[in-house]
Formats: sequence, C-alpha cells, structure tokens
Amino acid sequence: MENAVQFYDYTRPELVRLLGEWGSPRHVGTQVFHWLYRKHARSFGEMTDLSRELRGELETKAALSPLKLHTRQASQDGTVKYLWQLPSDAKGQSALVESVLIPMARDEEGEPSRYTACLSTQAGCRMKCAFCATGVPKFQRNLTTAEIVAQIIGMEQDSGTPFNNVVVMGMGEPMDNYENTQKAMRILHDPEGLNLGRRRITISTSGLLEHIDRFIKDDWPVSLAVSLHSADPEIRSRIMPINRSNPLDKLRKLMRKYTFVRRLPVTLEYILLKDVNDRPEDADKLAAYCKDLLCKVNLIRYNPVPTLPFDSPTEEKVLAFREQLKAKGMRVFLRERKGVDIAAACGQLGFENTPAVK
Ligand code: SF4
Repeated sequence: MENAVQFYDYTRPELVRLLGEWGSPRHVGTQVFHWLYRKHARSFGEMTDLSRELRGELETKAALSPLKLHTRQASQDGTVKYLWQLPSDAKGQSALVESVLIPMARDEEGEPSRYTACLSTQAGCRMKCAFCATGVPKFQRNLTTAEIVAQIIGMEQDSGTPFNNVVVMGMGEPMDNYENTQKAMRILHDPEGLNLGRRRITISTSGLLEHIDRFIKDDWPVSLAVSLHSADPEIRSRIMPINRSNPLDKLRKLMRKYTFVRRLPVTLEYILLKDVNDRPEDADKLAAYCKDLLCKVNLIRYNPVPTLPFDSPTEEKVLAFREQLKAKGMRVFLRERKGVDIAAACGQLGFENTPAVK
C-alpha cells in the first residue's frame, strides 16, 4: 500500500499521538504498541482488542514490516542469515540488506536457547574499511527506522525465539545514519515493548568523533563498541580511511568521556589481520592505547572475503596475541567464529555472496 504510515517508524509516544490525531483515546496507542512488540502481530486483523472499525481503518492507512524476505541461509553452526529486500525508492530502485541471528547457547537437546541478533543500518557503507565486504559496493542509502526495527521483528517471527542481545554491527556505520538508528534503539529499549536494556544492545562505530560526542549527550539507551583494529595511526589509516579525519588520540579522549559519563566500559573490536596488525608490537601498542581506559577488547579472527587481499593469522599467532594482552592485565575475549560458511560472519556481509534481486 503506497503512502501508508509505517508503524515501525514510530516510538510509543509518537504512536499514541498519531492515533490520538486519528481519533482514538490515549490507551489505544499503547495497546497497538503492545501488539507490535509484545505480541508480535503480523497484521492489524490480529489486534483483537481493537474495535472492528479501527482495525479496518488501520488496514487502509497504516503498514507493518516494510521488509520482504528475499533469502534465508542457515549455517552448520546454527547461525541464520536473512537477506531482506527494501521497498523501491522513487526511481524504482530496490536494495538488499542482511541481518544475522547468532545462537549463543544451547539447551540439553542441543537446540539454540539464546540468540544474539545482528542488525544493519545502511545498504552499503561509506566508511570503506579495506577488510570489509560491505564497503565494496556503491553505497545505496540509509535504512529508515522501520527498516531497522523490522529486521528484529522479522527474525523473531521466523525463529519463534526472543533475543537476549542485539548488536548493531551489520551492514553500515550506525552513526552515519544517526537519527533513524537512534530512534530504532529507543523503540527496542521501550519497557512497554521489547524492553531491551542498555547492556543488551551494543552499537558499534568505526569512530566518527562528532557523532560519538552527540551520542553521549543524547544518552542513547545502548552500550558502545568501537571498531579499533589498530592502535597505530599509520596502520589504522591504511585499513580504516576514517582514521585520517577522526584520529586515534581524539577517539580515545571521547571514549574516556563515555566511560566517565555512563560508568560503563567501552568494547574495543580488533580484527586480527595476518601481517598487518597481528605482531607483538601491535599488541604492545594496543595495550599502551588502552592504559587508563575502562575497556574490554574483543579479538576477532578475520573472516576471509574472496575479493579482498587479507588473511587470518595462524591460530598460534591469535592465541599469542591474546596472551600478550592478558599478561598486561587487560580484559580480552576471543570471539568465536560463527556463520563463516554462509558469509554471515563479521566483515563478510555484502552482496557478492548472495543472489541478485530479480
Ligand atoms: S567495517 Fe563497518 S564501518 Fe567499516 S566498511 Fe564495514 S560496515 Fe562500514
């Protein structure tokens, strides 16, 4: 339905206001919000505690998920990758984005009992990190709030399992789509809906200084992760061009501000790239950079992308890197590889590995 109001674009107060303008009392907006996020309604017809007239009106004026499931791929390790088709723009151009459902724990029967959902915020990415598949194709567009939120709803409906954690680490730089992503996070956080607490949503940025500063002031209800990948300015600029205009020393200052204001550690993501940032001197530089910074480090083995000239270090080198950091008293975690066989792992999200839209 063209020009329909996208309900997943609306925070609860906005939905209450909108339905008020359409003539409904205040509680109806909250009732609809419950149907969207607590009861996972797939249509207005299912919202049985609304009057028949209102349900009919909503069917003509409003819409639920703007996403169409294009492809669903399941990994041997239980990870599921969803390829969503976005609505066409004014020129009739469509775009595809991916989200990933990652099993984090299993029950006695070996079935996944706890999931992390990984969301995308842009179709493509302007940051062009050298090791990442998402930055390769031309940037297409920002996702709307509804398109970000609907990824969660779609995955929850498909898997039948609520999530314990959400990470905004899929396609795109979330802070480059500041307003839409912020609003989506507030919707996911709302206690009347999915009720995901600050520690259960993590947003990852490549380090846009101005935006991080604004993020701290606006008090997004999420935790912060920064894709660091090197504490050496020359190496970081080579693999992350954004470092040239957003230098490491200023980034560190801002992260300290965040930890001070929020009283939370910042997570530093560090993808280990063979012969690029995996040497003992790289670990030393990282440790020095983290001195006096309330942080934990997530080490990630590089997940190969066939078209990119990077490789993962040997397991021996990965473990030695971790031990070197631990020996300096740092909190270090080595992230388990998930979804590599379906190109769903960190740095692999992109369009090369997926069929084209017909
Ligand atoms: S790593 Fe993140 S910020 Fe860098 S190109 Fe990929 S999606 Fe963009």
